[in-house]
Amino acid sequence: MMEEKLKILYLEDNPDDAELVERMLRKENGKLELHRVDSREEFIAAIRSTAFDVILSDHSLPQFNSNEALRLCNLAHLKVPFILVTGTVSEEFAVKCLKQGADDYVLKSNLTRLPTAIANALRQRKLASDRLHAEVALRHQNEELSKINQELDSLVYSVSHNLRAPLSSVLGLLNLANLEEHPRHPEFDAYLKMIEKSVLKLDDTLKEILDYSRNARLEIARDCINLKELCDDCMEKLAFLEGNKEIEIRSSFSGMEIPLYSDAYRLSMILTNMLSNAIKYRDKSKEQQYIHINAKITSCSLTIDFEDNGIGIQPALTGKIFNMFFRGTELSEGAGLGLYIVKQTVDKLNGRILVSSNPGKGTTFTVHLPNNQSGR
Ligand code: ADP
Repeated sequence: MMEEKLKILYLEDNPDDAELVERMLRKENGKLELHRVDSREEFIAAIRSTAFDVILSDHSLPQFNSNEALRLCNLAHLKVPFILVTGTVSEEFAVKCLKQGADDYVLKSNLTRLPTAIANALRQRKLASDRLHAEVALRHQNEELSKINQELDSLVYSVSHNLRAPLSSVLGLLNLANLEEHPRHPEFDAYLKMIEKSVLKLDDTLKEILDYSRNARLEIARDCINLKELCDDCMEKLAFLEGNKEIEIRSSFSGMEIPLYSDAYRLSMILTNMLSNAIKYRDKSKEQQYIHINAKITSCSLTIDFEDNGIGIQPALTGKIFNMFFRGTELSEGAGLGLYIVKQTVDKLNGRILVSSNPGKGTTFTVHLPNNQSGR
């Protein structure tokens, strides 16, 4: 492969110095094209007309100097290495030039260093430009990814949302079929019951997916909350959940006089999931089945314990119950999404959720959330 010629622009008014520099460079690198200028006008014309690989500049010319030249290069956004080739300079002056964007400086008394200085400056510029390209590519990739993420999220949301309408008409039709009084095969009713159960399960999963999606999309709200009323609302929503009548739900609240600020929608999602799990995973062999809700409000936090005496969770599984699609027991009829969504929601609210469980004895979930009184 033929090596390309190195195109050098050289600002120098002294022909003898210029010749010396050219000789030195040709000795080290024969393939170069050196274009010498010695005035401001020539310098501007050169950088406008030609793409140089390197610019060399003497410091001071009769009506022009290297600072000016560097400033013009910066104004033109030239990404070309700029090296001062000059007589004696003070350390202060050298630092000033480097600060202004010069890549290096070489003393005329030490010209043997010039080829290495050029090679180093070219390498550094190449590294910087590669890094810049990589950063731009990464930024584009990130923008692309977050766009895809948003699109995926709205697809999940609208699909789940749209699927719920036909499901509720199936439920309506099932109700009508149940009202039919014509004599029918004894198994027919059992089939209808099974269809209804499956449709309700599917609807629950869609509701969970919608909750997930809402938590991911919606800004955090700051509502003034009456915790007791919110708990009552959640219990009411669960009134028709199987087993709800068998379990005693007891609640105690402290610090109710302290204003509580949080996201009502998200908090109610957490409460509903905690309560419905305690009902679903109650221990039917126990005579007294209960869930105790213990809530404590302070000016900076809300802590709620959900203590049940249900079937409990095996110690080996407690680390996994917040994973997506994880179901820890064959009794589960859900999609394994509830606690995953609860954890995502608690995280979004800058809170924490802990669990301790004893198989056969019961489970306690503790949710800590900030009380956002200050609005931050
Ligand atoms: P799902 O209820 O759909 O299985 P969840 O994410 O709500 O999914 O719960 C994950 C698993 O955690 C459940 O399958 C169950 O094994 C366990 N679990 C959750 N809550 C309780 C609880 N209160 N008591 C016992 N086990 C529980």
